[in-house]
Amino acid sequence: MPSDFFTYQAQTSPHPLAIEISHAEGSYIYDTANKKYLDFVAGVSANSLGHNPIEVKQAIQAQLDKYTHVMVYGEFIQQPQLDLCKALAKVSPRNLDAVYLTNSGAEAIEGAIKLAKRATGRYEIIAAKNSYHGNTQGAMSVSGVEHQNNAFRPLIPGTCFIEFNALDALDKITSKTAAVVLETIQGGAGFILPKNDYLKRVRERCDAVGALLILDEIQPGIGRTGKFWGFENYDVIPDIIVAGKGLGGGMPIGAFIARPVMMQLLSNYPKLGHITTFGGHPVIAAAGLATITKITTSNIQSETLRKEQLIRSLLVHHAILEIRGKGLMLAAIVATPEFATKVIMRCLEKGLLLFWLLFEGRALRITPPLTISDEDIVLGCTIILEVLNELN
Ligand code: PLP
Repeated sequence: MPSDFFTYQAQTSPHPLAIEISHAEGSYIYDTANKKYLDFVAGVSANSLGHNPIEVKQAIQAQLDKYTHVMVYGEFIQQPQLDLCKALAKVSPRNLDAVYLTNSGAEAIEGAIKLAKRATGRYEIIAAKNSYHGNTQGAMSVSGVEHQNNAFRPLIPGTCFIEFNALDALDKITSKTAAVVLETIQGGAGFILPKNDYLKRVRERCDAVGALLILDEIQPGIGRTGKFWGFENYDVIPDIIVAGKGLGGGMPIGAFIARPVMMQLLSNYPKLGHITTFGGHPVIAAAGLATITKITTSNIQSETLRKEQLIRSLLVHHAILEIRGKGLMLAAIVATPEFATKVIMRCLEKGLLLFWLLFEGRALRITPPLTISDEDIVLGCTIILEVLNELN
C-alpha cells in the first residue's frame, strides 16, 4: 500500500517514485498492476547481471542449503567468503591480495580510511569536490558536497577537498596526508572521467609524499566500464581498492582490497581494528562469487564497450548536449534539471526506468544491466528520443 509506505517506512526524499514492485527478471521490473519497466538504471549500477540472474540464484540457493550466518566475520573459515576473496585478489593488480568483505560500499570506505590512517600514522584525508563515497559519518566526511554535509557537522576532522582533474591542486597532497580518496570516475558529480593523466599524476604525487591512494570503484568497478576495474582504463594502480554495488549481483556487499602486509595492521595493535558481524555473509559471498565468475568468464566486459557505442549512436538528438561516462556508466546531459525531470517522468509513464544523478541535475542516468540485449537498448533509446521529441 503506498499510504503504508509513506507512513511506516522512513523516507529518503519528499518525492520517491513509489512504484510498487511485484517482481523483476532480466532487464525488466514489473509493478503490482503488471506494468513492466525496461530498467536503464540497474538498481543504481548494482544489478550488473540484471534481475534474478540464474547463476546468482543458484549460488544463493546452494549456500542456503548449507549454512547462513555462523560467526562474526574473520573467525571461521567459510568457503564462500574465502573463494570470493581469492577471486577478487586474482582480478586485482599484483600484491593487492588481501580482501576485507563488508556489508556496503560506505562501510568499505570506512575500512579503507581507517587502514590508511593506521598504515601511515597520519590522519589527513584529501578527497575531491563533488565526490560521493557513501552516507555514514566517515564516508560523508570525504564526500565533497557541502550542502549535503553541513547539517551533519562536525564530521571527521582533517579532511581537505581538491578539484577533480585539477593538476595544479595536487600540491595540497603533502607529507601530512594519510590518503587521497577518489572515485575513479566521479559518479554523483555527473559521470566525470579523469583526464590528462590525472590519476597517474595523483599517484606520482602520493608516492612523492608517502600518501596512499584509495580508489573508490564502487560504481565503475566489476566490469561496468569494459574493464574489471575502472582504473585499468587509466594505467594507474591504487594502494587500496574499494568495491561494492555490482559485486553482489543484486545482493548487499562491499569490499576493500590492499597489500597483505598493510591489511594485517587491522588485526593487531589493537587487534580487532575493523570488525563486522555480517560482512562477508556466506550467502552474499556466494552471490558475489557467482557474479564475478560470470563477468570474468564471458564476453560481458567487451560487450559493454560495444553496447556503449550502440547507445551513443542511437541517442543523437539536439536536446542531448553530451553523453558523459564510459561503458555502461553513461549520462545524457540535457539543458536544465527541470527538463531532465520531465524526461525521466515521461519515460517512466512509457515504461522506461531512468534516474537522476546525485549532484548533476541535468543528467539522465543510463546504467542498465551489463547483460541488457541490443534489442532492449534500441527500445529504451527509442523511448527517450520519442519523449525528447514530444517535450521539445
Ligand atoms: N561510493 C560510490 C562511488 C557510490 O556510488 C556509492 C553508492 O552510491 C557509495 C560509495 C556508497 O555505497 P553504499 O550505498 O553501498 O554504502
